[in-house]
Amino acid sequence: MKPGIKDYNYEELLKIFTTMGEKEYRVKQLFNWLYEKNIDDFSLMTNFSKELRQTLADKYVLSPLTLEDHEISSIDATEKFLFRTEDNHFIESVLIKNEMSDEGRLTICISSQIGCQMGCKFCETAKIGFVRDLTTGEILDQICHVRRISGLKNNNIVFMGMGEPFMNYENVLKSADIMNYSFGFHLSVRKITISTCGILPVIERYIDEQRPYNLALSLNDTEAVKRIINMPIEKKYPFQAIAEMLNDKFPASRNRLTIEYVMRKDNISQDDARRLKKMFKYSRVKLNLIPLNPGKHTLPIPTQDEINAFVKELEIMNVPISIRKSMGSDISGACGQLSGKKYSNSGKKD
Ligand code: SAH
Repeated sequence: MKPGIKDYNYEELLKIFTTMGEKEYRVKQLFNWLYEKNIDDFSLMTNFSKELRQTLADKYVLSPLTLEDHEISSIDATEKFLFRTEDNHFIESVLIKNEMSDEGRLTICISSQIGCQMGCKFCETAKIGFVRDLTTGEILDQICHVRRISGLKNNNIVFMGMGEPFMNYENVLKSADIMNYSFGFHLSVRKITISTCGILPVIERYIDEQRPYNLALSLNDTEAVKRIINMPIEKKYPFQAIAEMLNDKFPASRNRLTIEYVMRKDNISQDDARRLKKMFKYSRVKLNLIPLNPGKHTLPIPTQDEINAFVKELEIMNVPISIRKSMGSDISGACGQLSGKKYSNSGKKD
């Protein structure tokens, strides 16, 4: 298989172009074609010589993903995209639009792995099991396709699709850096959010390396004994240990932290609200409440009244909260619903 041109960052492409005898400014032009202009054929790179275009086409894959399916929600116009990888696996991305009215946000939710090995009980991706990490190019190509097909330029990215981003650290961070290039998508670092179920040493590495992107931690419970039932990662990296590490390191870091909390019937008591309150010492931490979406799991979904009571309790305690609307539920595009479900459990097409 040929290497993917979108797997490379600036330094790597500079080396490749220098070896080919090309000038340095050509590298920025290439990034511009790949991401800003978002073309899908090397022959369209019209400020490159015919020879250079041909060499690139001979040596590299431009787009590692092909569109397999595209659905648009009739409720809220959320769009879901199913992509096929070169080795015939399937991943999904979601374009979320209604947020445009809130803070001018147009979000693409992208996948970082084919399947996932974290095994969270409430998540459909977990049901696939784990196939492999996505390459940097496969992560970026999701955005290229979604932009080209929808004709819309997102200004927000969340790594909240299929997979655990911090189990694919190198490729996720490399793709985020490329998204940020001024000669590419030029997405602001504050508009890129990486969400993790809590891989403690990798969160620590992320903070130590002073990475500038927003960090989101999927907490989903306030007691270890309950968290461990739905999120097996709690056994290896207890959230209390993560909290202690954050106590040490977070105040000095430049990161913002969002705590994600998927609301079930049995984790939104007054005591849960009180325990959550204790975790919000820092001004750069906010709580993002997500109503549990249905799926193959049998976990109890709360009523709107129960959610309202929990929200009210948190408001009284002055916990900074935002509530995520469930988008694209009719096309299984909401949080935790991505599974490439037309296909068999291995993530391969039947
Ligand atoms: N692995 C990463 C990112 C993917 S999951 C993580 O765990 O953060 C993105 C978010 O969707 C997480 O906060 C997760 O808790 C949430 N989620 C998973 N299944 C869900 C469901 N059925 N309903 C609502 N949210 C869900």
